[in-house]
Amino acid sequence: MNCQISARLFEVLQREGVPTHYLGLAAENWMAVQRVEVIPVEVVLRNVATGSLCKQTPIPAGTELSPALLDLYYKDDSLGDPLLTDARLELLGLINADQRQEIETLARRVNEVLKSFFADLDLLLVDFKLEMGMNQAGQLLVADEISPDTCRLWDQLNTDPEARILDKDRFRKDLGGVVEAYGEILKRVQGACPKPCN
Ligand code: UDP
Repeated sequence: MNCQISARLFEVLQREGVPTHYLGLAAENWMAVQRVEVIPVEVVLRNVATGSLCKQTPIPAGTELSPALLDLYYKDDSLGDPLLTDARLELLGLINADQRQEIETLARRVNEVLKSFFADLDLLLVDFKLEMGMNQAGQLLVADEISPDTCRLWDQLNTDPEARILDKDRFRKDLGGVVEAYGEILKRVQGACPKPCN
């Protein structure tokens, strides 16, 4: 389901002129993509405060964040994906200031497109994580996946704080109904984008 959802979201982005690594669906669970060198930085966009932001700061859960909060994390599980500051980025030499700006501009555009796409499906895009990489021509592309494993999505047709959760938090909070929730996301995304490219 993640592959099916992700493929359609990449297509929505590409239709809106956002460059991604996506080429097409080769099979039900097999996405063909451009080879990219992934930048070891996770880009997190937050439209509503929840999750780690509320554990690490006094910002109350549910606070609307406008403009969206953009945070960069160093992609390294053994270090626990630590938050990156501009000074740390410079120290690590991961990306330069121009690339930092390019990443931010691209991520904010992704947020704009997906927030509006999901809103039309009665889904609130609470927050999400992106990965990006450079293709052989040196173009920055959105890579990896975009799915309920990497996004928080709340059902706007449901006000119950647990029942509205249609993403990986169902698993993390042990709420059950994970497959059903992902199926609901897929159903709504498929409704808007029935046939992905092959
Ligand atoms: N996220 C992710 N992979 C990570 C870290 C975060 O996909 O390694 C996504 C997560 O699903 C959520 C958003 O990024 O949609 C923000 O996550 P947060 O920092 O709040 O961490 P969490 O509370 O999910 O551990």
